Amino acid sequence: MHSSVSSFDITRQHYSVESKIVASLERISEAFRVLLWNESKENALSPIQIQILIFLLFHSEEQSKVSYLAREFNMTKATISDSVKLLLQKGLIQKIDDRTDTRSYVIGLTPEGRNIATKSAGFAFSIEKPLHSLSDQQKETILVGLLKLIQELHRAGIITMQRMCFTCSHYRAHEGTHFCTLLQSSLATHELRVDCPEHTELPKESSKT
Ligand code: SF4
Repeated sequence: MHSSVSSFDITRQHYSVESKIVASLERISEAFRVLLWNESKENALSPIQIQILIFLLFHSEEQSKVSYLAREFNMTKATISDSVKLLLQKGLIQKIDDRTDTRSYVIGLTPEGRNIATKSAGFAFSIEKPLHSLSDQQKETILVGLLKLIQELHRAGIITMQRMCFTCSHYRAHEGTHFCTLLQSSLATHELRVDCPEHTELPKESSKT
């Protein structure tokens, strides 16, 4: 049950830095929505169709399935299937036989789909650009704070899909240092990954930080 405490209550924001952070994240999520919408309009596609094309551009075959995309974007399989159907009709993606499961298929980009995905993948750069002017320490503080927030939201079942170090079975933390047992290497804070191809999900209750 939700309490009546609101991060958007301006009076509360005067004394709660947490509320201010949440209100700021909401502003930034609005910026994502607007930028994605502009990109979609330009390509006569829907925002989710653009997101699917960009996701396919950067992720493995095993992640390029309707069921995986549904979890990634918190949508039903039926909704993702509809978008996939339209992208197939537009000739931007193709079905490829799944080598691991003959009843299933994976989705790949066609050359035209790849062109649009490559062009659109920079849609959020206006958000990245101002971050370049922060100090390394400021950026690391933001990164760790956001990773912890994602970890907690994942634990609470709000973010279902993520592939970052703190929820990976290869991650070890020791006295403020980070270590990856797969890469057999310590990780500096700026090397912590948000979307790692080798991520292996931890059982939720055994999260390590
Ligand atoms: S495998 Fe990737 S996500 Fe897991 S700890 Fe190593 S770098 Fe982090």
